[in-house]
Amino acid sequence: MAIELYSTLTRQKAAFKPLTENEVKMYVCGVTVYDYTHIGHGRTFISFDIIRRWLEARGYKVTFVRNITDVDDKIIRRAAERKVTCDELTAEFGKAMQDDMVALGCLPPTHEPRATHFIPQMLNIIERLQANGLAYQTESGDVAYNVRGFQGYGKLSGKDIDDLRSGERVAADQTKRDPLDFVLWKSAKPGEPQWDSKWGSGRPGWHIECSAMSCHYLGETFDIHGGGPDLIFPHHENEIAQSEGAHGKTFANYWMHTGPLRVMNKDGKEEKMSKSLGNFWTVRDAIAETDEKFGKGNGAQVLRFFLMRTQYRSPILFGPDLVVDAYQSLKRLYGAIAAVTPDDEALDWNEEHAQAFARAMDDDFNVPLAVASLFELANKVQAQKSPALARQLKKLGAILNILQGDPQAFLKGSTDGLDEAAIEAAIAARKEAKKARDFAKADAIRDELAKMGVMLVDTPQGTTWQRVLVSREGQN
Ligand SMILES: [Zn+2]
Repeated sequence: MAIELYSTLTRQKAAFKPLTENEVKMYVCGVTVYDYTHIGHGRTFISFDIIRRWLEARGYKVTFVRNITDVDDKIIRRAAERKVTCDELTAEFGKAMQDDMVALGCLPPTHEPRATHFIPQMLNIIERLQANGLAYQTESGDVAYNVRGFQGYGKLSGKDIDDLRSGERVAADQTKRDPLDFVLWKSAKPGEPQWDSKWGSGRPGWHIECSAMSCHYLGETFDIHGGGPDLIFPHHENEIAQSEGAHGKTFANYWMHTGPLRVMNKDGKEEKMSKSLGNFWTVRDAIAETDEKFGKGNGAQVLRFFLMRTQYRSPILFGPDLVVDAYQSLKRLYGAIAAVTPDDEALDWNEEHAQAFARAMDDDFNVPLAVASLFELANKVQAQKSPALARQLKKLGAILNILQGDPQAFLKGSTDGLDEAAIEAAIAARKEAKKARDFAKADAIRDELAKMGVMLVDTPQGTTWQRVLVSREGQN
């Protein structure tokens, strides 16, 4: 059975055929590390993490490259503001980015190259472009890409080169031959990071790094190139122009992009997320807020589940209140594993829910549909008390990297403001009351706990408890 995937380049779904049988080479554009990652990064990187995990579950050996952009205007500006070197700034935020992605349950990439370690490879591509008539040095000393010289420009974004030209802002550098021409190499300015080159000292433009690093790790042609939706134009269009212009070969066979993320504001309005609108969510703030609601250590799991439940290409709306439903849903799944301990057998791919899960994932990584089969499984686990089905649930969850924590810890949720010893004492007192057939007292104890947001669950092994959300002021 083949995986069908949608390519931005062809605008349709087609059977995935890797260049080398049983191997997948994929490149996903990473983060410019001048600040903390935001929830949009989280959405994109969780999506590609799941794509990679599913390819691996299907038996492919996946080489996954995600770069770190560590030289750029924003980095230079921020480092100057904070009176640190660019290296210090990018070391700090590079580490923070890695920590955020691990917190969200993403596997580290196979390779995570930093742009500044690949300057010679970038210069090599620029030299080839110049030899092919696709790069020229401007009077200001920059080296620019000759967009008009590349036949396929606009094929990824579907933009027409003449429409683009009329929409182009006045170029900062008036010495470029065409306003569409983009910079491959910026001539050095005092106080900025710089490297020697045959065109004089300078630093790379943004786009060239991905052409250099993908070629280094994956070759001149590779299988999948991915990234966030804002990268289609101009970044990925320019990557194609550079790589295909230099090598004369198809760059990437499949182009995958996540859908856009919007934010639900406190007043219920949906907007683009931006710092200027005051609705900006860093991954760490979102985890902290979610932890506070659902219990320390649960926030990242809930966020991961929330961000994957929308098919990766669809637009997604984020808001702290919208996450509540993801928490309740994840609780239902954990509740099944808590009620019936999974057996130790291997995942059975022939079992009907596993088959439905696989069909959904093979269809362009349709996680919401795959998750629907997990809910069916959870219901059957509860109804049939089947350790075999509980194992299926947990092991399919492992492919998405959900449901792998301690179910009890998740279900107890936030213990803020709760005295766990007092709850255990109340549970013991209720057991005594039941034994003495004082059911009124037993019920009163249960109701009292419910008011505190503690729901008792009677199981054959005894009574456990879960945290339920009680509406507090200022919280839905
Ligand atoms: Zn890139």
